[in-house]
Amino acid sequence: MECILDAKSLVGEGPAWDSQSETLLWVDIEGRELHRFDPRRRRDQVVRLPEYIGAAVPRASGGVVAALRDGFYHVDLDTQAVILLAKVPQTGTDHRFNDGKCDALGRFWAGTLPLSQDRPTGVLYCLEPDLTVRPVIDGLTISNGLGWSPDHRVMYLIDSAVRSVTAYDYDLASGAPSGGRTIIEIEDGIPDGLAVDVEGMLWVAHWGTWRLSRWDPRTGDRLQEFGLPVSQVTSLAFGGPDLRNIYVTSARLGLSPADCEAQPYAGGLFELPAPVPGLPTMSFAG
Ligand code: ZN
Repeated sequence: MECILDAKSLVGEGPAWDSQSETLLWVDIEGRELHRFDPRRRRDQVVRLPEYIGAAVPRASGGVVAALRDGFYHVDLDTQAVILLAKVPQTGTDHRFNDGKCDALGRFWAGTLPLSQDRPTGVLYCLEPDLTVRPVIDGLTISNGLGWSPDHRVMYLIDSAVRSVTAYDYDLASGAPSGGRTIIEIEDGIPDGLAVDVEGMLWVAHWGTWRLSRWDPRTGDRLQEFGLPVSQVTSLAFGGPDLRNIYVTSARLGLSPADCEAQPYAGGLFELPAPVPGLPTMSFAG
């Protein structure tokens, strides 16, 4: 366990491994920044954005696709260009995008939340490679971590407000989730980001309780826990050679001065060796 970047981000989030450049994309939602971190050189590149950024994924044709407050945008880290790809139907200033991820066919899934985080008006959207947008799952309060089983037949989604992981049957060809059922309820802290390893086990980041946990989605059993030196653990992604590292983001928002003294690396990026390799971050295909 090592703090590899003492970023002091407000809400470090959405780590995504870009295997092409062997770098880690991550965002600071409240700080309105997109970052690209090179773990070998310990170098971090940043683009400041005009709006909240919920998630970012590598784009197969180059650059990055980001879910900003009101829609999907192309971002070029070198030129700092930000170009609108598609707005979402739900507009207004009282919602923003939160976590997002691509499925195995390169569709970009990202969900929204009401800024008040107190009513189920969030929606999970799908950006298709042809840049059309579909609202797919509504009734979410804090749409958060996403993932798929190794065979792509199950989609996982966390709604942090109800502190649970929901599994959906997933038809990869059409990009349709169905039959949602709660498979895991979290009682210690608030479940935030999610990742899946090659054995199909789920990894959950716990906001508020200094840890990651690993779960068997078939039985609902908690298998392992991994402690972090920060309380607000937000998300994780597998990366590095053979996807054998775990990169973890964290937040500083809401901590008191005493909290910050007790956890000086809050808001930083962490790396730990994975007991089993993870599934790769998929790129947006469009
Ligand atoms: Zn999150």
